[in-house]
Amino acid sequence: MKIFQFKKKSFKKKFKCNCCGKIYDEIPLTFGNEFPASYYSIPNNEIRTRVNYEKSLCVIDEKYFFHRVRLSIPIVDYPENLNFDIWTTISEDNFIKRNMDWNNPERIHNEPYFGWLENEIPMYSDTFHLETISNESEVGEIPNMQIIDENHTLFTDQRNGITFEKAQKIAQHILQKQHN
Ligand SMILES: [Zn+2]
Repeated sequence: MKIFQFKKKSFKKKFKCNCCGKIYDEIPLTFGNEFPASYYSIPNNEIRTRVNYEKSLCVIDEKYFFHRVRLSIPIVDYPENLNFDIWTTISEDNFIKRNMDWNNPERIHNEPYFGWLENEIPMYSDTFHLETISNESEVGEIPNMQIIDENHTLFTDQRNGITFEKAQKIAQHILQKQHN
């Protein structure tokens, strides 16, 4: 008797980096920045006294507040998104709220948080300080961020999605920088 195996056909294909030939099980589509841009302007010997950094939260000089959020760009002809885990500013009030609700499952009902984008997104020009809003996610996940500046390509790409070809170009561009 033949036993049927309902094996899900994988859409994933191995990916070979153009610059060095490194083989990935699948194309890397999640990238990010470890720190908000403002962090890098602080001299090394002042970081300990001026920066408070924990998990996905960062405070500089006790008055500039940042949180890490996820920017997802849908890929129209691929089952996964292109993701950037990056930083935006956040108001002090919302920062406190986020801390208080850190483990509260009800936090997904919170109003979105306004913020200015605090990183450059590779292959998109002038993304620094674009206007954004971020919506709380489930506990354990960073908020989902939306660009609200309608005149920027990042806004239209996030709304309409991009082709796999474009996603691949962006991924390759980032990997090349990392590998050199
Ligand atoms: Zn490479």
